[in-house]
Amino acid sequence: MTSAERRAALEAIAADVRACSGCRLAQTRTNAVPGEGSPDTEVVFVGEGPGQNEDRLGRPFVGRAGNLLVSFLGSIGWRREEVFITNIVKCRPPDNRDPEPDEIAACAPYLERQLEVLDPAVIVTLGRHSMGRFMPGVRISQAHGSTTPADPATGARDATVFAMYHPAAALRTSALEKESYADVARIPQVLLDARARRETAGAAADPTPADTAALAAGPLDDLAAVLVEAPPDPAVDLTIF
Ligand code: URA
Ligand code: SF4
Repeated sequence: MTSAERRAALEAIAADVRACSGCRLAQTRTNAVPGEGSPDTEVVFVGEGPGQNEDRLGRPFVGRAGNLLVSFLGSIGWRREEVFITNIVKCRPPDNRDPEPDEIAACAPYLERQLEVLDPAVIVTLGRHSMGRFMPGVRISQAHGSTTPADPATGARDATVFAMYHPAAALRTSALEKESYADVARIPQVLLDARARRETAGAAADPTPADTAALAAGPLDDLAAVLVEAPPDPAVDLTIF
């Protein structure tokens, strides 16, 4: 898929989400929050569900938890525009309650479609509800900072899943905030390892020179290093899906 095709496909998914009445959360939402970010990214962050600010603006992670997420990203030289950020449920659970299992199940096809389009190398789960979709049956106190291969049934063909605490939990507990900065510092290496794994798998299956060239010129090649130097660009044009 070309970048333009991915962008169009993500926009189509976002339109379906905004029109969705697939679960009871549709009745209480102000705005659905499909997600946003780069259609060319290799890294997708998956939170739990929109909060009050997200519901008001129709964008993910724009409140205090979002500020902390941006700070986590900044600590490794990344900007939110360079990744894709979305949630397990796309509409706000009232009073910020946990999403119910039937709501998570009803909303799952949207995340699945987003992951099919983005084909990320790395999925970072934020909090236990998100982790539960990708690493079933583990405890976040043990699994945070660790990786597992994504089940292709999630929509991600060949991704590495990396678990983190939810930024809202890190806001409440300074020990978790500290651990989260330590976890996020591991993500560039997780991405390099994930790329290497995909490269090996791709080469074994179909070693064309085009594949090799595409991998060498990955759009986020500089994520692990160069952007540590890059100043934030206030004029950046956010792509909102
Ligand atoms: N918390 C989440 O899990 N997702 C958001 O989008 C905002 C806060
Ligand atoms: Fe549809 Fe998901 Fe919103 Fe429920 S949470 S109404 S399934 S978009």
